[in-house]
Amino acid sequence: MSRWIVLVCAMFAAFAFAAPAKGPRKMTSVPGQFVVELKRDRGEYSQVELEKRLGGKVLRTIRPNMVLVQREARDGSEKVARDLRTLEMVRLAEPNYIFRVFSSPNDVDYLKQWNMNNSGEIDSAGTRGLPGVDVGAERAWEVQSGSKDVIVAVVDTGIDYTHPELISNMWTNELEEKGQSGVDDDGNGFIDDIHGYNFVSNTGSPMDDHGHGTHCSGTIAANRDNSIGIAGLNRNVSVMAVKFLDGQGEGTLENAVRALDYTIKMKARILSNSWGGYGESEILKEAVGRTRDAGQVFVAAAGNDSGDNDSDKNTIPAAYDFDNIVSVAAIDNRGELASFSNYGASSVHVAAPGVNIYSTSMNGGYETMSGTSMAAPHVSGIAALLLAANPTLNDKGVKERIMKGARPLKGLSGKISGGGLSDAYYTLTGDQPPEDPNDPGAWAEKIEYRFSSDHPYLENANQTFKIQVSGAKKISVHFSKLETESGYDRVQFFNSKEESFGYLSGSKTDGGFGPIVDGDTVILTFTSDGSVNGYGFDIDSIAVVR
Ligand code: CA
Repeated sequence: MSRWIVLVCAMFAAFAFAAPAKGPRKMTSVPGQFVVELKRDRGEYSQVELEKRLGGKVLRTIRPNMVLVQREARDGSEKVARDLRTLEMVRLAEPNYIFRVFSSPNDVDYLKQWNMNNSGEIDSAGTRGLPGVDVGAERAWEVQSGSKDVIVAVVDTGIDYTHPELISNMWTNELEEKGQSGVDDDGNGFIDDIHGYNFVSNTGSPMDDHGHGTHCSGTIAANRDNSIGIAGLNRNVSVMAVKFLDGQGEGTLENAVRALDYTIKMKARILSNSWGGYGESEILKEAVGRTRDAGQVFVAAAGNDSGDNDSDKNTIPAAYDFDNIVSVAAIDNRGELASFSNYGASSVHVAAPGVNIYSTSMNGGYETMSGTSMAAPHVSGIAALLLAANPTLNDKGVKERIMKGARPLKGLSGKISGGGLSDAYYTLTGDQPPEDPNDPGAWAEKIEYRFSSDHPYLENANQTFKIQVSGAKKISVHFSKLETESGYDRVQFFNSKEESFGYLSGSKTDGGFGPIVDGDTVILTFTSDGSVNGYGFDIDSIAVVR
């Protein structure tokens, strides 16, 4: 058994601009607890016999042939699991591993939902968004607004199901709602499961006590007709609250299995999974395999340790090799892969907004969070829109449409297997998504345009160049070579109103495009200090959108 590491969310905020420390991957587990799959149903053994052979107390039946065992906590968990697996009656035995949410809170609330409609605002961190880097929600809503017939299970920390933004889109188990309190009215084995179930407290109230599940649910389903707060992707949908993560954002293997089995029993079509861990678990893998057998779309956050899931196959459940899994990376409002996001040229399928996402929170509130946790629900919401329009599509059909409907983004090239940024409109219509509008290399119109700095460039330079293309809406300058002292010496870009669009500095031997400048005019300034000379730059062309 490999070693495990529990993802500590708070670390990702602290290390957002530094490489996260990569120690040995070690995942924790509940002390002394083991999930044991027997070769036969537990009913075939007496309690006394079972406890004697397993060397501990049997706390719960998870499935007919799967039990939770409490042993004394002093032995190493991996060793005990190995010993349990050698027993003749045992098929699988694993420590009761702990999984975690893939997110971290932000300090700043952003009033703008760039994830739904990005028109290029500057956010409060000073980063100008790139117009069009969003999930295409507004265009999609002209085509489809969702259906209550589509059940999306948010397998998470629960949901504030009384939130004014969410109450109308909660899944409701009518037999339980109209039934008697304290009675399993629909006979599914769960008492009072009106909006879902709480596998932490084993009650019918999956009320969120962390905030994460409510945040994810807002992205899928927040009411956009009530003129308050935010808009989720679906006007109509049924969100099932399946709580197995506790108030700390942690949940056990035992409860993950029970939660996933519940979604199958209650016929959810889509599972939104913004949680995971790093390691191996045959027991979790088989549970996810059952969701595949049930034809569920299993949307999974790709994970937050900046890793490559193709090589680190132990980011679970996202990196399991099942064809119903849609693994989702996170991007920022400029279309770049988020610094924390995992990726994978074959094992991560699409990307979605996951940095500074504003959504619903507990107690009827709102908050901003970041993580692949926030990216995954966008794809769950898009899958729900697609199933509303095409109820007979199967899980593979949904996944194929989502991957084909994703828009190429330059920043994702080679990082994920699908087209790029998941897009509701192109997923729904099946139309061919356009090239990245923010990638000048993909623009049709290129104009030869040559000029160069002095070679080597001058000390204490302070030069201004102006390029004007009549009728242009956007211009980007292409450099065949750029080489300056990094830092002070730079080429800076402005529009005709002298608004800055950024700068280039340092060495770019392959040239490349400068920033995209709005309007028909680009003003370049070239400045250098008195100490170092270098080659300077050569411009060979400009790309233009008219
Ligand atoms: Ca029930």
